[in-house]
Amino acid sequence: MNCIVTEFSGFCHGVKNTISTIEKLLKDESQPVSCIGLPVHNSQITEKLITQGLNVVDKVEDIQSGILIIRAHGLPPERIEYAKKRGLKIVDTTCNIVVRVQNIAKTLHSEGYTVLITGEHEHPEVRAIYGCTQEEGIVCSSVNDVRALKLDGKVGVVSQTTFSESIFRKIVTALIERNFSELRVFDTICSTLAKRNTAAQITASQVDMMLVVGGKMSSNTKRLYEACKKINPNTYHIETKEEFSDEWFTGVETVGITAGASTPQWIIHDICNAVKAR
Ligand code: SF4
Repeated sequence: MNCIVTEFSGFCHGVKNTISTIEKLLKDESQPVSCIGLPVHNSQITEKLITQGLNVVDKVEDIQSGILIIRAHGLPPERIEYAKKRGLKIVDTTCNIVVRVQNIAKTLHSEGYTVLITGEHEHPEVRAIYGCTQEEGIVCSSVNDVRALKLDGKVGVVSQTTFSESIFRKIVTALIERNFSELRVFDTICSTLAKRNTAAQITASQVDMMLVVGGKMSSNTKRLYEACKKINPNTYHIETKEEFSDEWFTGVETVGITAGASTPQWIIHDICNAVKAR
C-alpha cells in the first residue's frame, strides 16, 4: 500500500523546544524536574519523559523543590511568581508565539480594554493568557458566548493559538455587529498550523484514506482532523498504529498521513511503515 506523509507533519518549534529542554534537564540536573499538566498533549511522549524522571503535577503547591518547567502553553504570571516565592527554579519554554499573545493581552488590559480571548475555556494556554489580564479577561468559545456578553466600551480580541480559524472569524463578525466604541482584533492563531492544515487538505483530496495522528486531547490535532474530514470523509484520528481497523483499508490503495504539533517523527514513521506493510 502507498503512503504519503504530508509536509509540516509532527512537532512544531514550540513543542520541540519544550521536549528537548526537559530531556536536557533530566540528563544534566540532579534536582527534581516538574511540569504542571502534561508536558505536551501526547501520551507516548509524556510516558517517555515520566520514565526518564519527569514529575507531572496538577499545581505549583504539589512541588516541594527543584525545577519547574513551563511548557509551550505558558503559565499564568501569578502562578510563576508563586512558584518563585516557593524557591523553585523556573525554566520557561513558553512558545515565542504564545508569549506574543500574552504580551498583547497584557498591553490591552493595561490600556483599559476588556480583553476577549477566543479559545477553549479550560485550555492551559487560555488560562495563561487570562492570567495576563489579571483574570479580568473574558473567554469566548462560540458566537453564542459573544451574543450573551454584557459589554460596552473598548474591547480587544486575541485568540488561543490553536483555536479554529473559522470560529474565530465568526466571533469577530458577531463582535463587529455589536458596535463597541472601539474594537481591536489581533489574529493570533499560529500560522504554522494553517500551513499544516492546508498541506493536509491537499493530500486528503488526493488519497483514498487519511490518517491524522496525534493526542486525542490535542486541540491542533482535532482541528487537523476536522479539516481533513471535510475534504475526505474516509479520515481517522489515531494516536498509534494499534488503533488500525482492518475494514478501513478495504479497497484503499493510497493513504495520506498528517500529524499534530505534538506528535514525534518516530510515531509518524511507525504508522507509515505499518501502512506500507499492508
Ligand atoms: S502550535 Fe504554534 S503557538 Fe503552539 S507551540 Fe507550536 S509553534 Fe507555538
